[in-house]
Amino acid sequence: MKDALTDSYGRAIRDLRVSLTDRCNFRCFYCLPHGEPPMSPKSQTLSYEEIERACEIFVSLGVEKIRLTGGEPMLRRDLDVLVGKLAPLKAQGLRDLALTTNGYFLPDQAQTLKDAGLDRVTVSLDSLRRETFDRMTGVDALDKVLKGIAAAKLAGLTPIKINAVVVRGYNEGEVADFAAFAREHGVMMRFIEFMPLDSGHDWSRDAVVSGREIRERIEERFALVPARVRRGAETSSRWLFADGAPGEIGIIAPVTEAFCGACSRIRLTADGQIRTCLFSTVEHSLRDVLRGNSSRAEVIEYIEGVVLKKEPRHFIDDPGFRQPARTMSFIGG
Ligand code: SAM
Ligand code: SF4
Repeated sequence: MKDALTDSYGRAIRDLRVSLTDRCNFRCFYCLPHGEPPMSPKSQTLSYEEIERACEIFVSLGVEKIRLTGGEPMLRRDLDVLVGKLAPLKAQGLRDLALTTNGYFLPDQAQTLKDAGLDRVTVSLDSLRRETFDRMTGVDALDKVLKGIAAAKLAGLTPIKINAVVVRGYNEGEVADFAAFAREHGVMMRFIEFMPLDSGHDWSRDAVVSGREIRERIEERFALVPARVRRGAETSSRWLFADGAPGEIGIIAPVTEAFCGACSRIRLTADGQIRTCLFSTVEHSLRDVLRGNSSRAEVIEYIEGVVLKKEPRHFIDDPGFRQPARTMSFIGG
């Protein structure tokens, strides 16, 4: 294992999230309820060549996981071309090249992406009921997303993870149904607490369904046992079915059980800003450095300096907490 980039609290940075676009074809109410805010000009969006250069440098600095996200990353044209540029980094220390998507375009593209070198996908799926799905995402696309998950499985983009944001009054009654879905399809079902990163600024603590409640709701139907994995920098607590059925449960509880002390993540926005935390209120323009004729050594020096500014933790619970100006769709969840 390569030496890692290390922040000023001793945390190793191994995981880079790259947002490919701020745009999205969905309108999830917890993310982009009123549609996209004014887009950054296209000229500010990093090109595939710039993303490739940045990722190569991050991998040389010890990053082992790259996750492509957004907005909806599959809206970016010729995504397989980018995947093809990043896949060779696996010979240089990259262990995992993944994509987080709403799944809408997967039926047509899963195999092409696999062939280009993508390892696996995480698909967002907030409801198994057509009406609730529509209410949460703003589109009547449940069937299409289910087909996308099936296509990803067929193409071997596995292990597939499914993300559901659990929000009171919407889908908390479906938690055990999702666990049944995980068993039936042999996927890892990850439940995520609702975070204050919505463009509508409608987040309230009352709407958060805690990780603890999520587990209790599953255990009303299925007994769980802790998965024997080293939690390390993992964001989720992981559980298996006590009866040995396939599938796995992950519970991501950043609001009620913050895991900042083990955070290994850093983010690059579509317009080339490094964000050292989901909840950062400042950004660092790697784009300017990349476009400023900087040498490789200068880019590295810049990245190392930015990593040292990584926040110790998020401040959701502090009285002075300010929701970041940019939302999840900009930051890259
Ligand atoms: N469009 C893709 C998708 O939906 O999977 C990728 C980007 S999306 C911002 C990444 C993840 O962030 C999704 O799983 C989404 O559910 C999650 N997310 C968005 N807003 C959130 C919020 N306010 N709280 C918790 N998770 C959120
Ligand atoms: Fe789009 Fe993903 Fe945000 Fe939903 S969560 S609006 S699919 S970026």
